[in-house]
Amino acid sequence: MTGAPGAARPAAVGLDLGGTKIAAALVGADGTILARHTRPTPGEEGPEAVLDALAAATRAVLTGGCQDPAGVGVAACGVIDPVGGVVRAATDRIAGWTGAPLGPGLAARTGLPVACDNDVRAAAGPELAALDDPAPSLLYLSVGTGIGGAVAVDGRMLHGCAGIAGHIGHLPVPEADGLPCSCGGTGHVEAVASGPGITALYGRLGGSAAGRLEDVVRRADAGERAAADAIAVGARAAGRALGGLANALGPGHVVVGGGVPKAGARYWSALRRAFAAELMAPLGGLVPRPPRHGHDAPLLGAAALVTALPLHQPPGGRI
Ligand SMILES: [Zn+2]
Repeated sequence: MTGAPGAARPAAVGLDLGGTKIAAALVGADGTILARHTRPTPGEEGPEAVLDALAAATRAVLTGGCQDPAGVGVAACGVIDPVGGVVRAATDRIAGWTGAPLGPGLAARTGLPVACDNDVRAAAGPELAALDDPAPSLLYLSVGTGIGGAVAVDGRMLHGCAGIAGHIGHLPVPEADGLPCSCGGTGHVEAVASGPGITALYGRLGGSAAGRLEDVVRRADAGERAAADAIAVGARAAGRALGGLANALGPGHVVVGGGVPKAGARYWSALRRAFAAELMAPLGGLVPRPPRHGHDAPLLGAAALVTALPLHQPPGGRI
């Protein structure tokens, strides 16, 4: 992956498309955010309305500022094919989103070249670019409502067939045996180690009703055994999956981000212990760590996509 934020290039627009919100930024040549905009994702109105909203967010950050950006980079959840510019698979949070022509559709609406990728992979871009290594290998996991990931080997971000590489949440682990997963399969790590997965496990272990992971964390901190066990099992499942992947891919760096690791020390110690238990000897000493970049990482990574990925050009050329 090239295109580190701050590399010599003109300003670019970064868009972060989530199920409920679109965040937009104009990112300058030095990686600073020059303008911001957010608006709701009109997910129930279908793909045309979402593409219209992405175009409106692009115009909003260009108003009064740079009128000649290098292009627009879009980070979106789901399986995104950067080459075809198409959404290959998505949850139903956006109606009819699977198959949407994300790259070409936004290029036609904005008159600007557009690059697109999965949101977790985009967020991993700045993390990869910041590593002090000319050809780093990175395993990046994001644990939140779902579990996403990104893999870079020898300095190159892997996209794989249909852009699906990095969907680490759908690795089988014994802790999730028999549990239904968001992808339609069963027994995948996301089913037990995501925020909802840990919360549901807490209930199965006998915990009282907990609507959110924060409730489980609070009860664990107060000494409740079922809550502490649920967090430890989720963290162990994530660590086990990461350790096995590390043996397969040989990363020099392992990063775990997202909201769930904010559960704190009990989460990290269980994850690191399970990870270390899986490692083959040459990887000894490799320890998962939190990301260096904060909540702007998807926006910065999205803007950087325009120098790293194929650009989808507007029909008739750039306006
Ligand atoms: Zn799955």
